[in-house]
Amino acid sequence: MEIKVTRTTAPLEKPLEAEKAGTLGFGNYFSDHMFLMEYDEGIGWHDARVEPYHNLSIDPAASVLHYGQEIFEGMKAYRTKEDEILFFRPLMNAARWNQSAKRMCMPTMEPEMYMEALQAVVDVDRDWTPHAYGTSLVLRPAMIALEKSLGVHPAKKYLFFIICSPSGAYYKNGMAPVSIYVEEEYIRAAAGGTGYAKCGGNYAGSMLAGEKAEEMGYDQVLWLDGVERKYIEEVGSMNMMFVIDDTIITAPLAGTILPGVTRNSILTLAADAGWKVEERKLSIDEVYQAAHEGRLNEAFGTGTAAVVSPVGKLCWRGEELVINGGKIGPKAQYLFDKLLGIQLGNSEDVYGWTKVCERKY
Ligand SMILES: *Cc1c(COP(=O)(O)O)cnc(C)c1O
Repeated sequence: MEIKVTRTTAPLEKPLEAEKAGTLGFGNYFSDHMFLMEYDEGIGWHDARVEPYHNLSIDPAASVLHYGQEIFEGMKAYRTKEDEILFFRPLMNAARWNQSAKRMCMPTMEPEMYMEALQAVVDVDRDWTPHAYGTSLVLRPAMIALEKSLGVHPAKKYLFFIICSPSGAYYKNGMAPVSIYVEEEYIRAAAGGTGYAKCGGNYAGSMLAGEKAEEMGYDQVLWLDGVERKYIEEVGSMNMMFVIDDTIITAPLAGTILPGVTRNSILTLAADAGWKVEERKLSIDEVYQAAHEGRLNEAFGTGTAAVVSPVGKLCWRGEELVINGGKIGPKAQYLFDKLLGIQLGNSEDVYGWTKVCERKY
């Protein structure tokens, strides 16, 4: 794939002050460049390019604005001690990208093309990857339907783009466990729906429950299955794991939850640590029952943003559970350290998960 690179003549100032002060946050700053590429029916993907970061100009009839034909990905690039930039399992994101695209009737792309696009923009903006421990360059590939038509049908024209955001460590003051509200009124996904696709609509549909949880004093929503409102699904942008006795239990990939790259990595690390791991339906009753019997030892979310996020408190039908005294448990801590170590290039990557961003552009 030929990628045309146009460098900015007016580089922005990097948020070094915010990095030093630990106030980068998530997705607040953006790098100097972006990747763009169009798709037209009958032509395929064309005009791959890296350009200065800029506004998009799209037709008000563009189908994404009316019918939400949109998908995205969430990834991070980390700076190593040797000043290399590392991607983490990018081909797994590429595979998920194509699954999301197929579900939304959008064009797929060769994983190599997805990789080359990431590689190009991150290479050009590699200096935007922050240095402080735990910080990263958050990568946001997205695709929108651009056809000028109000007809409800898959568009014939699309834009693929990638923007990069230097972001802070998720945990500024140690790993503060989050509190979670178990939602019984609203659902996120149902079998046959779009739950396994990373599409914007899934997020729009989940915000009302998020607001409700926040008003009640909780950080996040735990979704239950859409049919019986009984089985654990996942949290806003994280998969969920419970440690009952010594076993790590997480929901199976059955079409209603996002197949997390972090989920897969954590399950691998846990199994290789010799722990019992189960991917199965787990009801909220079983979680509460285990807690009452003193067998619920830990709960944590897994996702690219936080890596591992311990859950200190759960609320279901008005009953609050405090898990592991509201502190991070030993399994969550081990898995977090192990995975971040690999992502940062500090521990040996026996799985071949990381990929160095080449110096090409
Ligand atoms: C992105 C996402 C996750 C986590 O996936 P990772 O690949 O681990 O970052 C989990 N659930 C939802 C709903 C998501 O959108």
